[in-house]
Amino acid sequence: MLETVLWFKNSLPNGCKLLYSPCGAWVGGLFFIVARKLSCAHFLICENGHIACSSCCTKLSNRCPSCSWPIGYNRCRAIEKVLESVKLSCQNTAYGCKETVSYSKKQDHEVTCNYVPCSCPHSNCNFRGSSKQLAQHFRSEHLNSVIRFQYNSFFPVHLEFNAVDKFCILEAKEGALFIVSSSIQQLGHAVTVCRIGPRSSRGHAFNLAAWKGDRSIMLQSFTENIREVVDLPSLSMGFLLIPNAFLGSSGQLKLELCIRGNNARPAKKIKLK
Ligand SMILES: [Zn+2]
Ligand SMILES: [Zn+2]
Ligand SMILES: [Zn+2]
Ligand SMILES: [Zn+2]
Repeated sequence: MLETVLWFKNSLPNGCKLLYSPCGAWVGGLFFIVARKLSCAHFLICENGHIACSSCCTKLSNRCPSCSWPIGYNRCRAIEKVLESVKLSCQNTAYGCKETVSYSKKQDHEVTCNYVPCSCPHSNCNFRGSSKQLAQHFRSEHLNSVIRFQYNSFFPVHLEFNAVDKFCILEAKEGALFIVSSSIQQLGHAVTVCRIGPRSSRGHAFNLAAWKGDRSIMLQSFTENIREVVDLPSLSMGFLLIPNAFLGSSGQLKLELCIRGNNARPAKKIKLK
């Protein structure tokens, strides 16, 4: 069963009818069932005493789902208080999150949860896990598929630009995984750097540079966090546009990249060699 259902004896007076809100917030005479997906902000009460959540009331044009009388003007704070006291576990429990939160904070927590699952970027691998689990998985399964690098110093990255959409995987010393990706654009190739991890983790400053003879182009930006390679940020984010003229005849280009560690001192800007 997908939904975690919590049963609670309630304290509604005797004779109270079975009431429910269509989204799954169901208030029974003896029990509350709080569906896992419940994310309603308020509970409202109609003149006949039926209760529905605010999002259901909006969807039903402020008509009570039980009796069709107008609803949406009076909040039922007693129900809200009881529901607020119910603690639900985070949907990422299976990935290691031990957090329990009230229903109104559940959605906010899950957006920023550190245990949100990330997909393994290796092609033909279906592994999903928290960024910590993914780092362990990558070390044990794909040891030879990454470029290992040290924070705060430049290292070479080779991308095969003849491929349609191309990326390579980088691994930092502590196991964090980064992706350098390129996509073909009208004027050249757009290259950017992202980190695989939860939304809440801080971006890393990076410098990305390309050379052609004595000309160079450089991008200084921050990594975005992605949960899977298909999320690779759209081009509204920082990217280095490499003109086609920079590419060798083989379609290969040597890039130099420096990613800053997050506990590195916010020192001066990194200078190109
Ligand atoms: Zn509802
Ligand atoms: Zn009603
Ligand atoms: Zn969580
Ligand atoms: Zn994998």
